[in-house]
Amino acid sequence: MEPFVYTASPGRVIFAPGAIARAGEEIERLGGSHALILSTPFQKADAEALTNRLGGLSAGVFTEAAMHTPVEVTARAMAAYDAAGADCVVALGGGSTIGLGKAIAWRNDAPQLVIATTYAGSEVTDILGQTENGVKSTVRDPKIRPETVIYDAELTTGLPVPMSVSSALNAMAHAVEALYATDANPITSMMAVAGLRALRDALPQIVEAPKDIEARSDALYGSWLCGVVLGSCAMALHHKLCHTLGGTFDLPHAETHAILLPHTAAYNAEAAAGQLAPAAALFGGDLGGGLWDFAKSVGAPMALMDLGVSETDMAHAADLAVKNPYANPREITRDGILELLNRAHAGARPT
Ligand code: NAD
Repeated sequence: MEPFVYTASPGRVIFAPGAIARAGEEIERLGGSHALILSTPFQKADAEALTNRLGGLSAGVFTEAAMHTPVEVTARAMAAYDAAGADCVVALGGGSTIGLGKAIAWRNDAPQLVIATTYAGSEVTDILGQTENGVKSTVRDPKIRPETVIYDAELTTGLPVPMSVSSALNAMAHAVEALYATDANPITSMMAVAGLRALRDALPQIVEAPKDIEARSDALYGSWLCGVVLGSCAMALHHKLCHTLGGTFDLPHAETHAILLPHTAAYNAEAAAGQLAPAAALFGGDLGGGLWDFAKSVGAPMALMDLGVSETDMAHAADLAVKNPYANPREITRDGILELLNRAHAGARPT
């Protein structure tokens, strides 16, 4: 056994189909009596249904959550929170809505209950990414990590299959990077492998039968594990590259992760062969190629060009990607990154 440091992340998790029915008791457990319910415009009806279910425990809904947590939306949500006399927040949705709840909590320390409905994993991290004047910045603070998370697979049966696929690959990327993280430890690695396995097994079933509650439960379980390791381990090439591409070309979050994962895994496969071995074993022994085959088989987006970025943009992205050095198993070189990006742009199988 190698020496290691392990820090457990606080947080309460309620995992059960139908667990949204327990939202009221969880709000009270947090000491709340007036919760502001958050959602995106798309999930407004769900937020309103939750408000009706909560009765007097709800202080109302705020349904303007948006991708990348724009600070002007947070300002409006803070005003709604104060005007409603709220004393906690309930974020019902994926990373965008959870980001808004975190942004509020970072500013006023509101207790947070999250009801997570995608596989992005934000609900169990202390990371907040927000945008101001188009510039994205990231903060970490213990106040940001939600106190309680409800995972109710019934709420995910309506997550469209393409979104389910991209979101699951986004989660798998957390696990792959956690395995070779400089601060990896036996517990996070165990969670990462279990998370990858659960998602690998569940995703083809979800594609076949999107309302299969067992497959949806397994995927949600996998996404929780992958989220925990995202919040515990330092991410490297994959997340930095997605951040650069997403920020520079305004690309959709989960799809960018889904396209890049096989390529970033292949880039690091040899340098981190030992740490990645259990993950490679789940995908036929060759992690990059195996992940690419898996992604293709479940209908994932495969090529950056399909997201509207041009081939010439790849050189600019490679320049940006090598600007700020960070720890990664294999040395980050401009030529290596450009080759990776060109393959991801074309949707070619990694070699
Ligand atoms: P999202 O939250 O933007 O959701 C995408 C769309 O799907 C939204 O319209 C949403 O309302 C809808 N949706 C969500 N769940 C649904 C369901 N079950 N059924 C039907 N529709 C549903 O997508 P996401 O990928 O979860 O989150 C992306 C955002 O989260 C990005 O801004 C990203 O930066 C952030 N993120 C942050 C962290 C972190 O730790 N800070 C981690 C992962 C992602």
